[in-house]
Amino acid sequence: MSGRKRFFVREIDYPEMSEAVLDGEEFIHAKTVQRVEEGTEIILLDGSGKEYSAIVAKISKHSLTAHITGGWDGSREPKTEIYLLCGALKGDKTELAVQKATELGVGRIGIFSSEYCSAFMNANKIERLNKVAREAAKQCMRSRAPEVVYFDKFADALNSAKDYKNKLFACEFAKQSQTDIMSINGSAALAVGSEGGFSEKEFAFSQELGFSSITLGKRILRAETAAVALTALVSYALGELR
Ligand code: SAH
Repeated sequence: MSGRKRFFVREIDYPEMSEAVLDGEEFIHAKTVQRVEEGTEIILLDGSGKEYSAIVAKISKHSLTAHITGGWDGSREPKTEIYLLCGALKGDKTELAVQKATELGVGRIGIFSSEYCSAFMNANKIERLNKVAREAAKQCMRSRAPEVVYFDKFADALNSAKDYKNKLFACEFAKQSQTDIMSINGSAALAVGSEGGFSEKEFAFSQELGFSSITLGKRILRAETAAVALTALVSYALGELR
């Protein structure tokens, strides 16, 4: 990672408050992995899109206090909101999709269960996915990490995309796309199925909700490949990755 180490903290009210406390996992990471010491200059992120320069003032057993010296708007966040909805995947594949989507700039991630989905999710796994998103966000110098949420009902997952201008449904059995990805503008929600793919019923429901089916070509991609490829294409169409 280039430059000063970056850490997520709770909301910062700067310049009203010029001290910030780092605790929990971020503190342990700072102390044991990043070897932060008193006097080290760091960057604090509070998830608002702002970044703060700070100097570590005091390290105690379970937390550290840093003195904030400046704040600015992060310049690496995408201009347009992308929401990735992805079926729960087996093994560590969901983590892979979350990590890559975060690097590509998504603002929000929903993991869902569906008819042909055989992966299992629980609160711990979702917490772990949020951690993966935070780590990926720091590594690629973002100032926000996408929140990862879970939907155990497929309908709730698709309904959560209702306010997005573009709603795209990666459909492995679609012969052609109903929307040209390269011509979209405005916010976009992207739905990608799990290893088992989507059912005809799920496809029909997505159409009712105004999703456009998208083909990613003649080959059947693994779910995580499809999630990364579609996110990259949409990011590019919206002016990112260039
Ligand atoms: N088990 C399914 C494939 C699922 S692929 C089968 O055998 O047909 C997992 C997900 O990746 C799909 O639900 C879809 O969202 C996406 N995907 C994979 N290949 C795709 C393609 N060629 N076009 C559109 N979406 C694709």
